[in-house]
Amino acid sequence: MTETPESSSIPALQTTCCIIGGGPAGIMLGFLLARSGIEVVVLEKHKDFFRDFRGDTIHPSTLELMHELGLLESFLALPHSELSHLAASFGGQTFPIADLTHLPTHAKFIAFMPQWDFLNFLASQAAQLPTFKLLLEHEVTGLIEQKGRILGVHVTTPTGPIAVRANLTVACDGRGSISRSAAHLRVIDRGAPIDVLWFRLSHRSDDPENALGNFNFGAGLILINRNDYFQCGFIIAKDSFTTQIQPAGLEAFRNSLVRLVPFLAASVHELQSWDQLKLLSVQVNRLERWHMPGLLCIGDAAHAMSPVGGIGINLAIQDAVAAANILAIPLRKPLVTEFTLAHVQSRRELPTRITQAVQIAAHRFLISFLGKPGPIKPPLPLRLLSPHPFFRRLVARFIGMGVRPEHIAPSEHP
Ligand SMILES: Cc1cc2nc3c(=O)[nH]c(=O)nc-3n(C[C@H](O)[C@H](O)[C@H](O)COP(=O)(O)OP(=O)(O)OC[C@H]3O[C@@H](n4cnc5c(N)ncnc54)[C@H](O)[C@@H]3O)c2cc1C
Repeated sequence: MTETPESSSIPALQTTCCIIGGGPAGIMLGFLLARSGIEVVVLEKHKDFFRDFRGDTIHPSTLELMHELGLLESFLALPHSELSHLAASFGGQTFPIADLTHLPTHAKFIAFMPQWDFLNFLASQAAQLPTFKLLLEHEVTGLIEQKGRILGVHVTTPTGPIAVRANLTVACDGRGSISRSAAHLRVIDRGAPIDVLWFRLSHRSDDPENALGNFNFGAGLILINRNDYFQCGFIIAKDSFTTQIQPAGLEAFRNSLVRLVPFLAASVHELQSWDQLKLLSVQVNRLERWHMPGLLCIGDAAHAMSPVGGIGINLAIQDAVAAANILAIPLRKPLVTEFTLAHVQSRRELPTRITQAVQIAAHRFLISFLGKPGPIKPPLPLRLLSPHPFFRRLVARFIGMGVRPEHIAPSEHP
């Protein structure tokens, strides 16, 4: 961390709340605070939202927030697909897993929409508010600290370095957060025994619409239907990409995909180079303390989530809503106390812990068969529970709404 003298010659911007990172947590928090009349600056290092696949799933809890904001209709006018029943295939047998049609929400489905469309939508709504400012190509390189309190951030921009000073800085810079390491906040690493290889294959007109989870022959493959292509997530044992999968060759990899999901035989030849695959090293961790004087971490910066259940985006959004609800009034005063920041953590820590515990249990199940040859036997609990509507509704509630769903507080604009 850098202690910056007040007389620094670097140009400085002053705001009430500086948000590091324009992902789901940062854009939503910026939008909600600006809606309450708070001056916010969101700093995003990329020049737009159009980048690698980082999850597509907008769950009913997030859609309900859109409804509360009066935006659901215009949001759903964007191109997307909807899924109200989730199923997975184990050892070639398909089991229904979740039925979202009974959820007490306006949208009883998961909307699949590229994350950049979702972020563009939120950012364009926020941009209509006079106190919201999004600065793209602004990369935070360090925190400004004085006497143990964070006063803002150092930023590199295309036109040179600047400082952004703020009453409160909120780190929403994701699982690689530089802010949390700069602030020396202790990370509790829960470990993750899996990695995921992401790639695309064409979706042909005779392919099934819904082929989400497929587990067999020591492998797992998630297929997200994006109309003209499948976004594919191949689940592998941690670090096995370089030690096993790559040495076995691309042909062996293509064959393993077809063995798992035979209809991919028509499209698997599209994979011609390892460069078409992106390796996600899965992490599950959380900060012991999400804050220090002048700084709060939320979203993946506070708790990196596994892609299991496709919950990370929605949890980040829930954090943003809770933070906005708690911070909107205190941010009108010059200093936000640590007590207020601790309140945000205590509100969101339980949902995080429970969600991560479920993800870790899912990892244990996956690792029990990953890499082992031969067909897998569908797990007994699934065989017993899947026929029961109560089970399918319970899973739908966990995935679709999460633990302790947040609601938009009435705007406190003075
Ligand atoms: C490959 C992959 C697939 C996933 N699939 C799903 C899924 O299907 N469903 C789901 O719900 N979740 C999924 N997740 C998890 C999900 O993406 C995260 O949980 C979620 O995006 C967290 O949101 P966030 O706003 O906290 O952080 P992020 O989305 O990581 O956003 C952080 C933002 O901060 C910016 N940033 C970082 N450092 C700086 C800096 N120094 N200065 C300025 N800006 C900075 C980044 O560019 C980024 O825009 C997936 C993750 C990955 C990597």
